[in-house]
Amino acid sequence: MRLNENADLDTSQVEDLRGSGGGGGIGGLPIGGRGLTGVIVTVLLALVGGYFGIDTLNGGDPSGQPAAGPGLEQECGSANADRLKQLDCRNLLYINSIQAYWTDELPAAFGTTYEPATTRYFSNQVSTGCGAADSGTGPFYCPADDHVYIDLTFYRLLADQLGAPGEFAQPYVLAHEYGHHVQDLLGTEAEMRREQQRDPDEANHLSVKLELQADCYAGAWANGASDTEGSDGTKLFTSITDSDIQQGLDTASKIGDDTLQQRSGGSVNPAEFTHGTSAQRQQWFRTGYESGDPKSCDTFAAGAVK
Ligand SMILES: [Zn+2]
Repeated sequence: MRLNENADLDTSQVEDLRGSGGGGGIGGLPIGGRGLTGVIVTVLLALVGGYFGIDTLNGGDPSGQPAAGPGLEQECGSANADRLKQLDCRNLLYINSIQAYWTDELPAAFGTTYEPATTRYFSNQVSTGCGAADSGTGPFYCPADDHVYIDLTFYRLLADQLGAPGEFAQPYVLAHEYGHHVQDLLGTEAEMRREQQRDPDEANHLSVKLELQADCYAGAWANGASDTEGSDGTKLFTSITDSDIQQGLDTASKIGDDTLQQRSGGSVNPAEFTHGTSAQRQQWFRTGYESGDPKSCDTFAAGAVK
């Protein structure tokens, strides 16, 4: 994977909450407006996954306070020749690419307008519309406030503890989370929650379908990524290679429910799967990648996911 060193990055797509003490933040913009029933999801998702395994929180305590990130604009501006050596600027480029992809593709595939969602970089802890979270949660998308949340140190954990060190793991993770945003825009996510309430016995299986669809959407982005453009109309990537795609597949294999259960020393228990097996996660990433068509990602179709 090669990035366009001269790309003009849109820093407004990321809010930098790092170091703002859990999202309080001087100069934060209050969100307000939603009911404050405090379902605080204090996150101790020790079981299956825990990491980019479990990543869609629910609940409603919208006390997340963005703190403006004066740093990124300078840091990731093209005047800084070394910016793309920095994790936060590289991830900004990935986010720009993923959202550029969906800005074109969501109307084309589903006739729906794409509404951008900012990613919030945080460190340690953060308040979100889905409750309080900490780094142990892994990256997640919060449908209540329409933000992706990530502590960038997660990638170190992914590399060192889960065995997925490839650079392409990073855009794959982000593209998966933006896949959840797309599901939110399309109503898929809300429909799945209703189904879960109607049929609690199927709750985990429905979650698996939602997660595998997000993997497939990540694959579809990977297919289109080399065509995505920054705000100045130049390409964001100059190349994406087979070895990048292989890294995406490797990452998918490291975060399957079965693999994570084994890694945590337990036995494999399919009834507790919420994200799909390693084989399924690879399969659906590949489906999206090979078709390049998000319409191929219908994991909810009868028989699509066993
Ligand atoms: Zn997910």
